[in-house]
Amino acid sequence: MSDANSPALLDVQLAIERYKRFAVATHVRPDGDAIGSLLGLTYMLRKLGKEADPYCQDPVPSAHRFLPGSRSIRHSIEQPSFYDAAILVDCGSLLRVGNALADSIGKIPFLINIDHHMNDTPFGDIFWVTPSVSSTCEMLYHLCGQLQLALDPDIAAQLYTGLLADTGSFRFSNTNRQVLALASALVEAGAQPAYIAEQLYESASPESIQLLARVLSTIAFSSDNRVATAELTQKMFAETHTLPEDSEGFINHLRSVKSVELAVLFREDDDNELVHVSMRSKGKIDVSAFARRHGGGGHRNAAAFRVSGKLDAIRSEYTEKALDYLAGAS
Ligand code: AMP
Ligand code: MN
Ligand code: MN
Repeated sequence: MSDANSPALLDVQLAIERYKRFAVATHVRPDGDAIGSLLGLTYMLRKLGKEADPYCQDPVPSAHRFLPGSRSIRHSIEQPSFYDAAILVDCGSLLRVGNALADSIGKIPFLINIDHHMNDTPFGDIFWVTPSVSSTCEMLYHLCGQLQLALDPDIAAQLYTGLLADTGSFRFSNTNRQVLALASALVEAGAQPAYIAEQLYESASPESIQLLARVLSTIAFSSDNRVATAELTQKMFAETHTLPEDSEGFINHLRSVKSVELAVLFREDDDNELVHVSMRSKGKIDVSAFARRHGGGGHRNAAAFRVSGKLDAIRSEYTEKALDYLAGAS
C-alpha cells in the first residue's frame, strides 16, 4: 500500500482535527529530516489554526539554522498539561527524544508517532510508520495533501531539507520517482534547491575540517577493504574546538571508498563511558538489524546504537562483530 493510502494517515488527520494544542518533538542530535519535519509539521498545524510548539532536546546544528522557525525550537517542555497531544517525528522510539523530553511527553494524554525507521515495537496512540519512504518529510507531504493544506515557501523549504538530507542529496537507494516528483512539487511551491544545498553542504567551519582530518587519520580497512572503521575522540573535539554536530556526514567518507560495503564510525561521548557507533552499508547489507540487536536502530543502509565502555575496547570488539555479521550476510 502506498503511504498516501495508509489507514493510519486518516487517523492522524482525525486527531489533528480533533485536538487544539500540540507539542511536536524530534530526536536528539537532530539531522535535516528531524529539523525539517519538526518545523514543517509545526508550520502545517499553525496554518490550520492550531497551537503548535516545536521541541528538540539538543541544539539545532548551525547548518540548519537558515530554516524558518529554527530559532523558535525549545529544548524542554515547561508545562506538559498545556497540550492535548504530542506528535513525534523521525523517532524510532519515545526515548530517541532524550530522557527529559520523553518524561514530559509521557504526561501529555495523546501521542502520535510519525516515522520511517524500521520498528518492531509500535508505540503511541497512533503509529504511522512507513519504513519504505525516504524520509519523515515525505510522509508530511502526504499529510499536507490529506489535510488539503496548500504548500507555501516556508513549508516547502522545511520538507525539501528533510528529503535532501535523508536521500544523501538524491543519491541513496531510497531515491526514486516519487521522491523526485515530490522534490519538484516542493521547488514549485518555493523551495530553493541551490540555496538549501549550500546551507547544508557548503557551510562547514575551518575547525570541522581540522576535525575531519584527525578522524580520517584513524581509518583502518579490513576484510579485503570491504570494511572501513574510524574513530572520533573527545580529545579531537577539544583540540579543534568543535562539537559532535560538526562531525555530521563524516562517515560518508568511509563509505565513499569503492570497495567498502560496510563503514563504522566509533564516537566517544562526553563522559568517556559511552560510545556512539554509526554504521553505513551498501546494497542489501542491513545495518539496522545489527543496530537493533545492540539496542539501537535506523534504516537498512544507515543505523546506529550506543554501548558503554572505553573507545579502544569497543572499537575492536564491535569491528569483530561487524566482520562476523558481514561474513554471515554474504
Ligand atoms: P547516525 O549514524 O547517528 O547518523 O544514525 C544513523 C541512523 O540511525 C539515523 O537514521 C538515526 O535516526 C538512527 N539512530 C541513530 N542513533 C540511534 C539510537 N541510539 N537508537 C536508534 N536509532 C538510532
Ligand atoms: Mn533523523
Ligand atoms: Mn529520517
